[in-house]
Amino acid sequence: MSSGKAFFIDTTLCTACRGCQIACKQWNQLPATKTHNWGSMQNPENLSYDTYKLVRFEEHNGPDNKPVWYFFPDQCRHCLEPSCKEAVEGEVSGGIIIDRRTGAVLFTNKLKKTDPDNVLNACPFDVPKAQKKTGFLAKCTMCVDRVHNGLLPACVRTCPTGAMNFGDRDKMVKMARGRLTEVNTRFPMATLTGLDDLRVFYLLSDVPKMYYTYAKMDLPPVHMDRKTALRKIGQSIKEFTGDLDIYS
Ligand code: SF4
Ligand code: SF4
Repeated sequence: MSSGKAFFIDTTLCTACRGCQIACKQWNQLPATKTHNWGSMQNPENLSYDTYKLVRFEEHNGPDNKPVWYFFPDQCRHCLEPSCKEAVEGEVSGGIIIDRRTGAVLFTNKLKKTDPDNVLNACPFDVPKAQKKTGFLAKCTMCVDRVHNGLLPACVRTCPTGAMNFGDRDKMVKMARGRLTEVNTRFPMATLTGLDDLRVFYLLSDVPKMYYTYAKMDLPPVHMDRKTALRKIGQSIKEFTGDLDIYS
């Protein structure tokens, strides 16, 4: 199914205010996560059972030796052919379902009967996270409860800059392509991710690896589990980082 809904996340407009991250917590009634200083402005350190959305920070050296920030609002990509679903299908049918109206990939209570590692290892974007005590899994739901009632996902509703967008998938594809054309003069390396196989597209101003390890996959997610993804990422980082000065 390639109709339904999609997010278009324009990172060229993101100021890292983290409004989307907080709005997600608030709507889903998720508790605060205890954090610590781990040497980055990114906080908390990673997605978790209680954090479905996280604005990732990467700091690099710019051409004039000044720091350049890359912000990446991370969340489930709601893959068109989700490898997480594929991984549990034989074991617990209905543990992961696709919402007909939106295309959202949703975890159900039946998933509690499965080995969480099957799902954790299957996602090429390292998205789902398990609760420490129970092993139950959680991730972004696309706010289907809001969307079914004519509302935008909480993160999109909150974003003050227009970085977060949501709507019919074909319209989001069009919007993403239009924005790429608009920003191309300012950001010659700008690129779009996810248009072919995901429901979350990113406009990145630079090479995806500058943003985050799992910012982009080279194969459709259904053909890629975590191990394959990491192997491919290792190869492309080796090819790419020769002249890169990363200090965060
Ligand atoms: S494979 Fe990962 S990113 Fe894709 S739908 Fe499943 S949890 Fe989300
Ligand atoms: S609310 Fe918008 S501008 Fe703020 S961090 Fe999220 S995507 Fe970026």
